[in-house]
Amino acid sequence: MTISKQAAAEKYTKRIFESIKERDPAEVEFHQAVEEFLTTITPALIKDSKFEQNAILERLTEPERLVSFRIPWVDDHGKVQVNRGFRVQFNSAIGPYKGGLRFHPTVNSSIVKFLGFEQIFKNALTGLPIGGGKGGSNFDPKGKSDEEVMRFAQSFMTELAKHIGPNTDIPAGDVGVGPREIGFLFGQYKRMTGAFHAGSLTGKGLGYGGSLARTEATGYGVVYFTTEMLKDYDMKIKDQKVVVSGSGNVAIYAMEKAIHLGATVIGCSDSSGYIYDPDGIDVDTVKQIKEVERKRISEYPKHHKNATFTANKSVFELKCDIALPCATQNEIDEKIAKLLIKNGVKAVAEGANMPSTLEAIKTFQDNHIPFAPSKAANAGGVAVSALEMAQNSARLSWHFEEVDHELQKIMRNIHTRTSVIAKEYGEEGNLIVGANIAGFLKVADAMIAQGVI
Ligand code: GLU
Repeated sequence: MTISKQAAAEKYTKRIFESIKERDPAEVEFHQAVEEFLTTITPALIKDSKFEQNAILERLTEPERLVSFRIPWVDDHGKVQVNRGFRVQFNSAIGPYKGGLRFHPTVNSSIVKFLGFEQIFKNALTGLPIGGGKGGSNFDPKGKSDEEVMRFAQSFMTELAKHIGPNTDIPAGDVGVGPREIGFLFGQYKRMTGAFHAGSLTGKGLGYGGSLARTEATGYGVVYFTTEMLKDYDMKIKDQKVVVSGSGNVAIYAMEKAIHLGATVIGCSDSSGYIYDPDGIDVDTVKQIKEVERKRISEYPKHHKNATFTANKSVFELKCDIALPCATQNEIDEKIAKLLIKNGVKAVAEGANMPSTLEAIKTFQDNHIPFAPSKAANAGGVAVSALEMAQNSARLSWHFEEVDHELQKIMRNIHTRTSVIAKEYGEEGNLIVGANIAGFLKVADAMIAQGVI
């Protein structure tokens, strides 16, 4: 009986996966995100046939809407440039679509679909009423002047505005979209709608409706989640050697919180290579280089004499106790995972979205390395975005400590829920199973309750 139920569940997920690959064969990142999800939720499908009866997987893997549009803009030389923009409104079962915008040359439909798909379950895990969405453009803000970024952002918003709104879809930042970009996007949306819709975007500046602690939230949240996970293995982050990839918003605040809690962060990176500082990374220097001067991380050793820069190599070749991948998708492959294990890594927590390949994840699991998947570990950013929306609706703003306290509570709850669900479904300690099933149950039940839509 059990075996046949298992076989039926596997047949169902296989059928879904095959049909997705057949429909959009080039969307490899999206396939990867869906595969990771489908291979872990079978215990939930075995337990209840209602999901297949209601075609939940068919509906969950097909976005409610995907818009793609042209973004013409004029560069500083007076030349017309054209980029491509996207917004995927993936699932609104539990709330309005919510998710960031990514401006990076790699952005295409596969990337926004993988990010939007992940966002559905991540947002569900926060316990807050937000659906899943994502968007972006293949525009590269790197090397562009502020004026070019503004003209691009205004053109992008001129089209996006038709599809968003405080009760419809609320974008925020992601890779390449920070306070500068959000400011330009918000300004254009205000101008077009003729109203100050504070809750139309999150990650806003503090002077015009932003929330305290939103900037820090994703990075701090990753570390809060990591400390919870470590407790289950009688470990603490204090005195551990930590390596963080990236040096953007997530990486900077993950480093800051890890250091605050007594860890030593010895390395971080950008797309040109990594820095190693045996004295411990000085986060203020990284903030100055990356956020103020918008320069490369290779500048860092100019300010710290014991530090070195290594070009075009993974920062995870540094020996560490805890690895926090906070750069981008698929930055840890099987080879890097094996190297981390050989070097004695004790835990891995994902700050970026899907930074580990399926093979890398398997390698960590086969070696019993505590592993925090991005859906759970990096949910702090979008959680505080939802708190920003709550503050905007109430027309007030909370103190930093209040928001930070809420964030800690949310990250603790996500950890507890993912652990409990993993155990309940026979996979104790497997937080990927826990996160996927916990997110799935919440969204699927809401979908069933709302009928065939
Ligand atoms: N881009 C972030 C994420 O991957 C945050 C999204 C948001 O705040 O809406 O979760």
